[in-house]
Amino acid sequence: MEELLKGREDRVRQRNNFIKSFKYKDPVSFVSLTVNIPGRNKLTQFARDLFIEALNSLRLHLFIKGITNCQKKIIKNKAGWTGFVAVPIEPEKLKKICISIEKNHFIGRLFDLDVFDIKNRYYSRKDCGLSDRRCFLCDRPAKECIRVGRHDYREIEFKLSKLEKYFYKMKLKREDNFTKVIGNLAFEAIMKELMVTPKPGLVDAQSSGSHKDMNFDLMVKSAESLKPFFSKFAMLGIKLGRHSKNPLTRLKEVGLEAEEKMFSVTNGINTHKGVIFSLGLLTAATGYFYKKIIFSDYDLAENLCHIVSDWVSGISEKELKKNQNEGNTHGQVVYNEYGFKGARGEAEDGFPNIINVGIPAYRRAIKSNLSEELAVLSVLINLMAHVNDTNILYRSGLDTLNEVKSLSREIIFSGGVGTPEGWERYKKLINFVEKKKVSPGGSADLLILTIFLNELEEKKSLIFTTS
Ligand SMILES: [Zn+2]
Repeated sequence: MEELLKGREDRVRQRNNFIKSFKYKDPVSFVSLTVNIPGRNKLTQFARDLFIEALNSLRLHLFIKGITNCQKKIIKNKAGWTGFVAVPIEPEKLKKICISIEKNHFIGRLFDLDVFDIKNRYYSRKDCGLSDRRCFLCDRPAKECIRVGRHDYREIEFKLSKLEKYFYKMKLKREDNFTKVIGNLAFEAIMKELMVTPKPGLVDAQSSGSHKDMNFDLMVKSAESLKPFFSKFAMLGIKLGRHSKNPLTRLKEVGLEAEEKMFSVTNGINTHKGVIFSLGLLTAATGYFYKKIIFSDYDLAENLCHIVSDWVSGISEKELKKNQNEGNTHGQVVYNEYGFKGARGEAEDGFPNIINVGIPAYRRAIKSNLSEELAVLSVLINLMAHVNDTNILYRSGLDTLNEVKSLSREIIFSGGVGTPEGWERYKKLINFVEKKKVSPGGSADLLILTIFLNELEEKKSLIFTTS
C-alpha cells in the first residue's frame, strides 16, 4: 500500500515537472492519462493493454481533429502506467475531447484522462458542465461508492474479470472490422481506376487497351480475389511491432500468397502484380498507423507513405543492383538499361509522385467541380506527365516515354480533360498510345494508390476513431 502511495506521489511530481517544462508555449494544455483498475496490482497485462488502448485512442482523436505537435511522456511505477501528453489547444477544448473518449470508447469508463492547464490547474468535469463520473458497478456517483466502501473486493474482482473478457473481445472485433474496411477501400480504389473510360492503353469498360490478354471482366475477377489479401495486409500491419525484425519478409509472404491467388483466377495473367506490391504496403501501413502510438505532425497520407518508406528502405539496392546480370523482371530490365527504380524506388522514397502530384491533382480536380470520373482521369494525366513509367520503358523505350509525358502535359496546359480542347488532346494521346501499343501501368498503379489515400482521408474519422 505504501508503494502505491509513493507511486502516486511520484506521478504528481513528474506531472509537475512535465508541465513546468512547457512554460513558454501558448496555448497548451496537458492530459494525465491513467487507467482506473481497483486492486493492489496496477501492473497487470490487462492494465498495460488498457493503458495503451487509452493512449492510442487519445492520439487518434487528436490526430483526426488535425491537432498535431503533441508531445508525450510515459512513466511506470507501482501505481501503474501514466502518460502525460502536452497538446497545443485550450484546456476546455481538450477536456471536451477527453470526456468524449471516456464516454464513447467501448471501455472508456476505465480510462482516466485528467486535464491541466499551463498553471497546473485541474479541469474537472464540473468545469465543463458535466456530472461526476459514475461507478462502474452500480452507476451511482463513483466518489460516493469509494467513500462509503459500497462494493467489496469480490464484487469488484468479478466485475473486472467480466470487463477484461469484454475488452479483449471488443478489441479483436474492432481490428477485424478495421481490416475489412481497409480491404473494401482498396478494392474500391482498384475499381474506380478500372471504370474510367476511355483510358489510354489501359483496360477500361469498353476496351482492353494495349493488353490483348486481358479484359474488364478479368480485371474485376482479379480485383475481387485480392480484396481479402488487402485486409490481411492491414492485419499484419496491426500485428507488426515498432521493432519487428524484417517486416518486409513478412509482408512479402502475404504478397506472394496474393500473387498466387491472382494467377490462379486469371490463368497466369499478370493483372495486378504492381498493385499487390504498392497497395499491399500501404494497406499494411494503415494497420500499423492504427495501432502504433505515433504522435505525428504529418497528414495521414504522408504518415502512411513514411511508414512504407521505412519498411522498404534499401530494397532497390538489394533487389535491383545485386541482380544486374539477371534481367528476369520488367523492373530489373528497365533498371539495367535506364537506371530507373520503378515501383520499388517510388515506395522507398515515400511515394513522392502521390504526395506531390497525385493527391494535389485530385484536390484541384474536385475543387474545379469535375465529375468523379473526370477527376480520376485528370489525376491519371497528371501522373503520366510526371512519372518515369517503367511499363512504358520496358515495352517501348525512352523516346516513347518522353512523347507520352509531353502529350500528357499538353492536355494539362490546354485546360485539362474537363475542357473541349483538353479532350481533343486527350484523344491524341489515346491514339498515340494505341499506335505504340504501350500501357502506362505504373501511372495507373499510382492512380489507384492516390484514390485509396484520398478516400481514407475523407473517411478517416469513421475508420480510425469509431469505438
Ligand atoms: Zn457503485
